[in-house]
Amino acid sequence: MFNPLNADTICAPATASGRGAIGLIRISGAHAFSIITSVFSPVSKKFDTSKIESHKLYFGTISDNKELIDEVLVAFFKAPHSYTGDDIVEISFHGSSFIKKRILELLISKGARMAQNGEFTQRAFLNKKMDLAQSEAVADLIDSQSAVSHKIAIKQMRGGYSKKLQELRQQLLDFTSLIELELDFGEEDVEFADRKQFFALLENLTNEISKLKNSFQKGNVLKTGIPVAIIGKPNAGKSTLLNTLLQEDRAIVSNIPGTTRDTIEEAIDIDGIHFRFIDTAGLRQSENNIETIGIEKTHEQIEKASVILYIFDSQNEDKDSLAENIKDLKSVIRDKDYKIAIPIANKCDNEENFPRDFKLFDKKPIFLSAKTGLNIEKLTKELTAHFSDTDPDSEQIVTNSRHYEALIRALESLENVNNTFAQDLPIDLATTDIRMALYHIGSITGEISNTDILGNIFSRFCIGK
Ligand code: GDP
Repeated sequence: MFNPLNADTICAPATASGRGAIGLIRISGAHAFSIITSVFSPVSKKFDTSKIESHKLYFGTISDNKELIDEVLVAFFKAPHSYTGDDIVEISFHGSSFIKKRILELLISKGARMAQNGEFTQRAFLNKKMDLAQSEAVADLIDSQSAVSHKIAIKQMRGGYSKKLQELRQQLLDFTSLIELELDFGEEDVEFADRKQFFALLENLTNEISKLKNSFQKGNVLKTGIPVAIIGKPNAGKSTLLNTLLQEDRAIVSNIPGTTRDTIEEAIDIDGIHFRFIDTAGLRQSENNIETIGIEKTHEQIEKASVILYIFDSQNEDKDSLAENIKDLKSVIRDKDYKIAIPIANKCDNEENFPRDFKLFDKKPIFLSAKTGLNIEKLTKELTAHFSDTDPDSEQIVTNSRHYEALIRALESLENVNNTFAQDLPIDLATTDIRMALYHIGSITGEISNTDILGNIFSRFCIGK
């Protein structure tokens, strides 16, 4: 795809803003080498601008006319062996924001322009250094904050499900050409496309795409953090549990029922899995307005959460009122969309005689003490057990909502194709749906893309990436 902006030579800081030991600026484009050599003086007398070696570091200074700006290291990457596929220059300087500003101004005065968000990666895509799904994974990799989200992103950046989708799409494309050729023969009863092979391909495609689509629910929470709602009556020990899990006192712990007016959210990593804990107000029905808001929020949080920790005070709760209490909740905690409810019998540091065989949400509670931490590891084990069966090494996991949308659309089109054949409808109906399926699959890897879609995707990147 020709993009006139691609003709410019662009520059941007690659390191985060603020001060640091080293800062890095990148220049990419046809004039990258000539722009840097007009302001850079290497220490080595042997430096020859006509014989710059790629992938080599040069030490020297950058000056604005006679004014020395910094001592720098400059690396050259000759096209096409660079991140973007264009000529690239990387300047490492002392990490001051003033020096960064001066160097950028200097480069711009020599003909470079400031890069837009994600423009380096967009060029890499346009120059076919990576496909669109891989480019998006670069942003996910930079955003990754846990071992799992990192694994998913790095796998996708290195090809992930792109290759499989591209292969299947190519096979479907080949069949489409044959079927369209049949249409050209009009009334003549010819079959170029082997129906048996074609149906096998449709089935294979449908299976692969369904698997990817189904991985999203889990993939998405693994990427952004698994939302966990801690709910229970006032004083059950919700804040204490959250604090113990966080091992720091952020939530207000008090023994006055209903003091947690709003919700508090904290994130922690357990065994490389990112959990977002939400502490909610008590679930007690109340005349008090402020607390009612809290209760509404609780229901909201249950809706949003993937895991619900239902905590009760095993000292002061009897099983009948408990069963009564969760009656309301059962309609909110539907076993849908990957929602898990874990009952917790709290305050087991004192002698409690709560029946051990009692079940809530069809599960025996975990008996623990939020205050002393007794048995807390049983809870963390239970939490991770539900998610550690995901192995980003062997499974293909979709975490990108754009891909998810495209997979749903592709599946719908494939279903229509199947129906057309099943009902013996005119074959030209099927070709339209096959084209739609090809379009949606191709939009994931970027075989089909337009400037608007690309603009939308890359604008979410940071500058310099
Ligand atoms: P919340 O209203 O559900 O958030 O309850 P809090 O976390 O504020 O706790 C209410 C009271 O119960 C506080 O006085 C806590 O110290 C106490 N508490 C919480 N967990 C335990 C526990 O495991 N054992 C004991 N003995 N007291 C606890």
